[in-house]
Amino acid sequence: MSDQTASNQTASDPTSSNRPRKDSLTTIAARAGELATPVFSTPLVEPIYQSTVYAFPDLDALEAGMAGQQDAYFYYRNATPNGTTLERAIAALENTEAAACAASGMAAISAAFLGVLAAGDHIVTDERVYGVTYALLRDELPRLGIEVSFVDALDLEAVDAAFQPNTRLLHVESLTNPLMTVADVPRLAEIAHGRGALLSVDNTFASPAVFRPAEHGADLVTHSLSKYLSGHSTAFGGVVAGRADLVAAARRILLRLGGTVSAFDAWMTMQGLKTLGLRMRAHSGNAQAIADVLQNHPRVKRVYHPGLESHPQFRLADSLYPDGFGGMLSIEVDDAPQFVKRLAGRIPLAPSLADVVSTLSHPWSTSHRALSEDDRRRLGITPGLLRFSVGIEDISDLLGDLEEALA
Ligand SMILES: *Cc1c(COP(=O)(O)O)cnc(C)c1O
Repeated sequence: MSDQTASNQTASDPTSSNRPRKDSLTTIAARAGELATPVFSTPLVEPIYQSTVYAFPDLDALEAGMAGQQDAYFYYRNATPNGTTLERAIAALENTEAAACAASGMAAISAAFLGVLAAGDHIVTDERVYGVTYALLRDELPRLGIEVSFVDALDLEAVDAAFQPNTRLLHVESLTNPLMTVADVPRLAEIAHGRGALLSVDNTFASPAVFRPAEHGADLVTHSLSKYLSGHSTAFGGVVAGRADLVAAARRILLRLGGTVSAFDAWMTMQGLKTLGLRMRAHSGNAQAIADVLQNHPRVKRVYHPGLESHPQFRLADSLYPDGFGGMLSIEVDDAPQFVKRLAGRIPLAPSLADVVSTLSHPWSTSHRALSEDDRRRLGITPGLLRFSVGIEDISDLLGDLEEALA
């Protein structure tokens, strides 16, 4: 450190050593801000720890921290108190041993994969997974010598048949985008475990308020924090939750590839998390009500929602999701452009999900545009398909908006 500046030479003059040494203004300014750590009371809301490094009183304390004997923080990329607080909260909500937060949902998913997979390993995954997850599995993991098989995860025999002696991981999404198929997590866990493999579940669309994959056998659970966990389209991050050893492996990857969550985003997510239960109850209730009404609407060709008896997996969904299905549903209409235009100003077209306000997306032109037209149609993604992320607005207002746009 170079604390000595030209202006404090008098202070270091040996002839003035009897007088109390007075720091220069430059030094006072640089060292100002003695920590006002509260002792007799604590802040009700955790502060944002916007410090990239932590100081230790002496080498013994540093050693105790480094050796893991004390719960110490060192450097922002390793961990921040805000990140730890969020990790504990999410592990409690997902009912897992541990959780590691990441800079994005994709950072979390990548770390979950790279933590358990090595060159020569094989992964089986649902062909419906989130577009960037699909691209990661199709384009990037094979470059590292990891083999990937895409299957229809609703076909349990096909899943089982896709396993190889080197299969290490099966990856699915609890509820898929945009047609809301439901992963049979208990059976998938049985299949994976029977083959000596692990099951990882992207639980972003459901949230732990309506489904907790680890309670049904999943070893790893991932989320994009910007969706339901934070809930207001203001925070960004991801999380891997699950068995402690698997989370530790993912955390090691996050540290080394540099994908840890920011203190601010972790803090913002904590603010949203406090209302997760209340929000999800409202999202689930509104989405179910809209699905019930629109399935009988003459202008709506199809409604995709697991709470409808017309959903091909209604019984499985009903048994796995006793508290509702969250806020996502899709509908098919004849004239999507006209419908979107008529809803504008009430329900905006915005290519994300899980906000407290309702939003609409068009999978054909956004999430699934990288697929060929044939592949999109084969998966049920048509130009008339619209995906709703149903918010927490009053249901009568939402139904009014939809009726008007469909009139
Ligand atoms: C958004 C999303 C992701 C990716 O998360 P990011 O935070 O955008 O990186 C992964 N899976 C699903 C199901 C998502 O909706």
